[in-house]
Amino acid sequence: MRSFSFFQKVSRAFHDYPSLSHLIVVSTVSGGSLIAYSDAAYSDSNTPTGRHVVAADEGETKKRKVVVLGSGWAGTSFLRNLNSPSYEVQVISPRNYFAFTPLLPSVTCGTVEARSIVEPIRNIVKKKNVDVSYWEAECVKIDEQNKKVYCQSKQGMDSNGKKEFAVDYDYLIIAIGAQSNTFNIPGVEENCHFLKEVEDAQEIRRTVIDSFEKASLPELSDDERKKILHFVVVGGGPTGVEFAAELHDFVNEDLVNLYPMVKDLARITILEAADHILSMFDKRITDFAEQKFKRDGIDVKLGSMVVKVTDKEISAKTKGNGELSSIPYGMIVWSTGIGTRPVIKDFMKQIGQGSRRVLATDEWLRVEGTDSIYALGDCATINQRRVMEDISAIFSKADKDKSGTLTVKEFQEVIDDICERYPQVELYLKNKPMRDITDLLKEAKGDVAKESIELNIEEFKSALSQVDYEMKHLPATAQVAAQQGVYLARCFNRMEECEKNPEGPLRFRGEGRHRFHPFRYKHLGQFAPLGGEQTAAQLPGDWISIGRSTQWLWYSVYASKQVSWRTRALVISDWTRRFIFGRDSSRI
Ligand code: FAD
Ligand code: MG
Repeated sequence: MRSFSFFQKVSRAFHDYPSLSHLIVVSTVSGGSLIAYSDAAYSDSNTPTGRHVVAADEGETKKRKVVVLGSGWAGTSFLRNLNSPSYEVQVISPRNYFAFTPLLPSVTCGTVEARSIVEPIRNIVKKKNVDVSYWEAECVKIDEQNKKVYCQSKQGMDSNGKKEFAVDYDYLIIAIGAQSNTFNIPGVEENCHFLKEVEDAQEIRRTVIDSFEKASLPELSDDERKKILHFVVVGGGPTGVEFAAELHDFVNEDLVNLYPMVKDLARITILEAADHILSMFDKRITDFAEQKFKRDGIDVKLGSMVVKVTDKEISAKTKGNGELSSIPYGMIVWSTGIGTRPVIKDFMKQIGQGSRRVLATDEWLRVEGTDSIYALGDCATINQRRVMEDISAIFSKADKDKSGTLTVKEFQEVIDDICERYPQVELYLKNKPMRDITDLLKEAKGDVAKESIELNIEEFKSALSQVDYEMKHLPATAQVAAQQGVYLARCFNRMEECEKNPEGPLRFRGEGRHRFHPFRYKHLGQFAPLGGEQTAAQLPGDWISIGRSTQWLWYSVYASKQVSWRTRALVISDWTRRFIFGRDSSRI
């Protein structure tokens, strides 16, 4: 699906390097010795019994300790762009590889093999000048007060087969992503497949093949076979839609030839609670996708809210009439969005964010209510500051001559800083049919000549009263996560500047309070592959492209954005193999 933008993002992330190929070579081939981190462990009375604290040898280095939790888009993007030797970095993640999630739906049907989309994290972090170590473990608790994270490894020697340890930090970077959201609907956890990790995609692939083998066994009624071959996808977002399209192609291009007896019995249903699938895309794409799926025989049930799942049936309520229907199924893939991980929920309670749904950071990605903790990617959201919270401070800063009124000239001098600190102002100006800020001020003052516009504080408030409505949360995409990783790495590369109190209503060129720019997301577009070699793309400037040529654009963008030459070669050879020989249906 989507965002080739995020790939562009990745290449932007490597902005420090002159060319994409250079940066890829740098990131994948960079050798050199990895400075070993002292793993001397000592007992610490503050830690829970049996746990150990791993700490750097005091005499060895005065480097500041940075702990990165997670080896996904955000974490790896940070690590790849960090180039200051003044840190000692420890990466903690239960996954010792980076997974190229946009190709996970392709893994579910064997279009691409699982190993082709992963890169070992140790390969990614072996840099000459940065001191990085990696621990394969899960963070189970963040202790904000004592600046420690408690971890659990499955590679353990304890009696329960685990190993627990604690790591202390000067800076903590939380990039642990999110988990699938079941909305506590009964039976979902037990009976549905999720599509979040590489293992999930492999499991789905096996289950699809199992279903065809099972339905082909002798002495089954047609109804039984139909039930086994009923594949239900819950959620019509980009992931659910792409999976349904992949599955349709797998069944119709490959499996029909191998299972002629049951070929007409397989069915795919998408249950979507909203009025349309792909609702985050332009209407032209939504319409095209719905019509294509109709032609393909994929049953899209809109306004269908799942309320319960048992081992045999899935029950959904129809929007509007509230009618309840139960559908027998063979396999369900649950793809309805993401929720907060338990370790983050616990951390949020510690720092006074217990009432929030998602961990909040400021625009510099610093977790609100903490010191030296940053969060990025799917596990957090930026709590964008409102203009109205700072309106008086903005006014008095902008009113240079202290006249108690603001002229167009005075406002023009600070508008760039305002737009940087409060991106909603720029969005507001862009979305409104006004030409520039003069028109914005005129709106509050009435139709007067530009030179005579002078606003008092109340009129200024009224001119900007609507801008905060333009604030939007960033989407949970690899594109955002990767951009945030790049941003934070740059921030760490220039930490001294960043530390000079970045907050404040306005920067004001030269005499700035925030010397480090707040994070700014740049949306570069999204892809939605729809099967049958057809892809839709929504690019910046509302440019829409749909069809086979867009599918080729998708191939080239995804190939070019692979994190290493190795995975690029593997992915391209998988696509070629699929074109020539079709997908492999062996159950291994
Ligand atoms: P992740 O990439 O999920 O990484 C989280 C990391 O944290 C993992 O390494 C995990 O093992 C680790 N971790 C988890 N728990 C702990 C813990 N307790 N302690 C330490 N480490 C932990 N986005 C796009 O922009 N374009 C796409 O085409 C696209 N396609 C997608 C397709 C699928 C099937 C899926 C599931 C997602 C897709 N996304 C896409 C979304 C994108 O993958 C996420 O937005 C992105 O992965 C978020 O990055 P992250 O680093 O926050 O989290
Ligand atoms: Mg003035």
